[in-house]
Amino acid sequence: DSVFAHLVRAPEDPILGVTVAYNKDPSPIKLNLGVGAYRTEEGKPLVLNVVRQAEQQLVNDRSRVKEYLPIVGLAEYNKLSAKLILGADRCISPLFYCLITHCMEYQDVRFKSPAIQENRVTTVQCLSGTGSLRVGGEFLARHYHQLTIYIPLPTWGNHPKIFTLAGLSVKTYRYYDPATRGLDFQGLLEDLSSAPSGAIVLLHACAHNPTGVDPTIQQWEQIRQLMRSKALLPFFDSAYQGFASGSLDADAQPVRMFVADGGECLVAQSYAKNMGLYGERVGALSIVCKSADVASRVESQLKLVIRPMYSSPPIHGASIVATILKDRNLYTEWTIELKAMADRIISMRQQLFDALRARGTPGDWSHIIKQIGMFTFTGLNSEQVAFMTREYHIYMTSDGRISMAGLSSRTVPHLADAIHAAVT
Ligand code: PLP
Repeated sequence: DSVFAHLVRAPEDPILGVTVAYNKDPSPIKLNLGVGAYRTEEGKPLVLNVVRQAEQQLVNDRSRVKEYLPIVGLAEYNKLSAKLILGADRCISPLFYCLITHCMEYQDVRFKSPAIQENRVTTVQCLSGTGSLRVGGEFLARHYHQLTIYIPLPTWGNHPKIFTLAGLSVKTYRYYDPATRGLDFQGLLEDLSSAPSGAIVLLHACAHNPTGVDPTIQQWEQIRQLMRSKALLPFFDSAYQGFASGSLDADAQPVRMFVADGGECLVAQSYAKNMGLYGERVGALSIVCKSADVASRVESQLKLVIRPMYSSPPIHGASIVATILKDRNLYTEWTIELKAMADRIISMRQQLFDALRARGTPGDWSHIIKQIGMFTFTGLNSEQVAFMTREYHIYMTSDGRISMAGLSSRTVPHLADAIHAAVT
């Protein structure tokens, strides 16, 4: 008999399992709103034009070889990634920022981070967002004095597993208020206030998954002040930079506010969504420190985390990203393609909202256009979701989260019919 004969079958991943069920459904009208991956108006995966161009350049360059990257990955990629999330130049104070955001469109103001110039940031290339979170978690479990990490309730389903296996103790802070389908800001402040000094706090940099609910810039400023006053350590998960608003800078503002105050933080970045590089597994972990000396010692320890885990990261995806980020024309073209993806998602929100209003579907559905990023947290319960899957062949996670990126003008009426039937 097999030495593994005693194994019980493990359950499917709750998110990836949605696609497994979808694939088994023979219905021609089936619709997969479970996956967190962008689809075109025709329902097809998208390879960005700039990615194709960068890959062509890489292929044409005969000097390129397939040697191992260093443990920390491609140096040029790491520098460019830190610049992308933290901003390039000088900083303005968060207080001044808050004052002027009251007076003007906040996109017009840029936070610039001095941390990079001062060599206080160490960045290591990791296996997309997930790998960056895991390496950051393992590093903290080994070297940080507080082993408790607070994650929002709810959050991306992989967060608690990543941090538990990294060796941290996971607690939650209130985030979403089902009654308003918005932010439970009071609850969030209370829970962070009563967290032990020094605790780690996981923050979604923008486009909170699964709720699509983000704090306003003024609320971020309050969160920042509270966290700094209690010496809570921010760990940003930035999986959607540029995908939320269509602007890379606007979506990075919360992170830049925390870096502008001179304090320390961690940032996990992913290029899965904003460059459509899902399967290339390209991401980065940056740790912003108080001094260049600390940053270099932190990096030396990160290498000891990475080496026995996977030795060094893959070269292809990081080379694509570096090629795009360092070339002014490719970079500009990328921002245009990125904004087009964000705009299509925003337009899907409006179309779904309009379709429900046209049907007179009971309830207030304004959260569909207020929420931001790839997902809408519909407020549909698990029975309603099961009904929509059974009767309408629409697939989504049981918490009622739908991926707006999986929707098109053609499929909006079908979804609106299903939601209408589910709630009436
Ligand atoms: N963090 C959040 C909030 C996410 O939604 C995702 C992807 O769905 C990730 C991190 C990590 O994704 P990846 O490992 O593909 O970069």
